[in-house]
Amino acid sequence: MTVDSACIFCKIIAGKIPSRKVYEDDEIFAFHDIHPWAPVHFMLIPKSHIPSMAQVGPEHEALMGRMLVLAPRLALQEGCNPYPQGGFRILCNTGAQGGQEVQHLHLHVMGGPRPWLKG
Ligand code: 5GP
Ligand code: ZN
Repeated sequence: MTVDSACIFCKIIAGKIPSRKVYEDDEIFAFHDIHPWAPVHFMLIPKSHIPSMAQVGPEHEALMGRMLVLAPRLALQEGCNPYPQGGFRILCNTGAQGGQEVQHLHLHVMGGPRPWLKG
């Protein structure tokens, strides 16, 4: 497990910065976005400090698979409405030109009734 002591999401995982937790297991953490765009907006992150999707390799296949499989279950749990009338959006900003602001890999999961603040 890699930890970057300067990373805001590593601090959230460690409980050094408070967050509204959605889910936790030995390798994945999920918490609500502090500035939600949508009625439901949480982040799904690996506990290990992977800076972005650009650093993901074959060694992360199982972890990334688990994150993607968790997303729909947590989306419903957090109040997204069922597919197809409801649904959700999974977004992963990567790098400066990809709009990434926090350098710890995260999947945004957003849903709930429109309109949303953005997107
Ligand atoms: P990015 O732009 O890197 O894809 O998204 C980073 C997200 O992290 C933003 O939506 C922002 O609101 C959220 N965020 C940044 N700092 C904090 C924090 O301290 N707590 C929580 N819960 N969310 C944060
Ligand atoms: Zn980190």
